[in-house]
Amino acid sequence: MNAARVDEVVGEFVNLKKRGVNLLGLCPFHNEKTPSFTVSPAKGIYKCFGCGKAGNSVNFIMDHESLSYPEALRYLADKYNIEIEETVLAKEEIEQKTERDSLYILMSAAQKYYSERLHEDEEGKTIALTYLKERALTPKTIEGFQLGWSSLGRDDFSQWAIKNGYNREYLVKTGMSFETEQGSLFDRFRERIMFPIHNIAGKIVGFGGRILRSNAKEAKYINSPETDIYNKSKILYGLFQARKAIRQRDEALLVEGYMDVLALHQAGIEHAVASSGTSLTDDQLRLVKRFTDNITFLFDGDAAGQKAALRAIDMALELELNVKMLLLPADHDPDSFVKAYDIEYVEQYFKDHSQNFIAFRIGLLPEDVLRDPIKKSEIVREMLNSVVLIKDIIKRNLYLREISKLLDFDEKVLNDELRRMAASKFKKDNKAPDLTLAEPQVISQEQAIRSQATAVNQEKQLLKVLLLYGSRMYTDDMTSAQFIYRETSGMEWENDHCRILFERYREATEQENNLADVNFLIHDQPEEMRRFVYDVITERYQLSPGWEKFLRRTVVSPDANYKEEVKSAIGYLKFTKISKIVEENQKGVALLETDEAIDELFMLQQVLLNMRKQLAVELGIG
Ligand SMILES: [Zn+2]
Repeated sequence: MNAARVDEVVGEFVNLKKRGVNLLGLCPFHNEKTPSFTVSPAKGIYKCFGCGKAGNSVNFIMDHESLSYPEALRYLADKYNIEIEETVLAKEEIEQKTERDSLYILMSAAQKYYSERLHEDEEGKTIALTYLKERALTPKTIEGFQLGWSSLGRDDFSQWAIKNGYNREYLVKTGMSFETEQGSLFDRFRERIMFPIHNIAGKIVGFGGRILRSNAKEAKYINSPETDIYNKSKILYGLFQARKAIRQRDEALLVEGYMDVLALHQAGIEHAVASSGTSLTDDQLRLVKRFTDNITFLFDGDAAGQKAALRAIDMALELELNVKMLLLPADHDPDSFVKAYDIEYVEQYFKDHSQNFIAFRIGLLPEDVLRDPIKKSEIVREMLNSVVLIKDIIKRNLYLREISKLLDFDEKVLNDELRRMAASKFKKDNKAPDLTLAEPQVISQEQAIRSQATAVNQEKQLLKVLLLYGSRMYTDDMTSAQFIYRETSGMEWENDHCRILFERYREATEQENNLADVNFLIHDQPEEMRRFVYDVITERYQLSPGWEKFLRRTVVSPDANYKEEVKSAIGYLKFTKISKIVEENQKGVALLETDEAIDELFMLQQVLLNMRKQLAVELGIG
């Protein structure tokens, strides 16, 4: 535990920034935009103010890597070169190792085997190493990315592995070997340059293999299949090597192939990663977001590359990444580009030619499209479809202005259209909520609830219920008004009109034995206040139909079930207020300097999160 410092262990997976005596970052266990995940090196613990997760280095590894306690200890021991003396016999020990561990061990052995073939075998040296040198890769790069060579024989690796005691079941499970019906093994990778694929913790989970013979009938690249340890949609090639640079530059550069990653890293552009064996996925972008909010896509200028780029833009916008696009001069790919120019030129080119996605898309259009009003409006609509994915209003407006400027389109028209799109998107997104969704979706649903149900609207709703049903009995010995007072005592109002009217009503009922007439309440109030009250009680502020549907509540006529109305008005108001405090606490963590203050806030936060959970259950939205 002394060796495995929590800031170091967590820091391998989360981008942590110093805040007072602690460190702060985006929680890896739930989706959040504002960092509320704190790490206290002094205490050796982490705490998340958003989802409530907390623990020490071992807990973190257990949760994050889905490992058992002993597995997590082994993981950390391995990382810090601490030998664990286990009391079981060696043979049993091997059997007891989990299957995942065995798969990792096999992959690591395979990497060493293939590297030896590259550097020691005649065939590897003459064919593969020569090729890599022709591509101007340095020994340092070849070493750093642990490249290798798979020989020509049909079962060289499988035989070697069996001879060295590796379980044939695992050879097949990792996809390194195929098994024929007769039970013999042969190799997946033959006569290929081997690119080990690392997970974020640096363990090898799969391989990519590139064939060298140009007349080969086989695919130029093949990859390991999906396995228990290799989930393709959650791995980015090169991220293990790139993550330091990504943090330092606060930017990730997404390229297309293994060789691009190698060439860029070698040239000193070490924040390059590639999606391997799949087209880009949401999960891969989430992986990037753990380290930075800024992503630059470097795509080939061909049609397939452009299509991939457009898809990637929307995915990244939806995850609230800041997206830049970079096109290389025609007839260059990243590999050839960094070889043709020196690093200063390349860096300057990247800087000068990174475009926002609006300018990028317009740049791709042929001249005549912009002269054709119909085509032009189609393009505008397409771009608005991307802009509408951006949740940050200020950013949205900046992009609108960009479209307006570059395409010479009236900004107000764009704005109206965007609003219409946003409304219909909101409706569509919230049409049929599945209330049994997993955690991240539940959180986004909560966000939806919060955005629609502002505290002020909830206050108006509660005021309405008070004015309409306050005098009716809630229980045998308590009016609805008394019940509302009790439940909201000490609450701070956001809307002044609501606060004043609430107080006046309370004074009136206390003095006049539960008789408070709305007209009496406002008879001496200014015109503005009177209008406010009538607006409230004529149900203008009732929950919108979409909201009702959203919550799967049947719309009961208010009078028929006033107790329900009272209860739910209080419930939603509390839910909204608690959510707001929770959110503020999350942001507030950054400002706290002492451990004591953080502990105190964390305890409060746990209480609030529990209260909110309870309320959500009661309201049928949890
Ligand atoms: Zn969290």
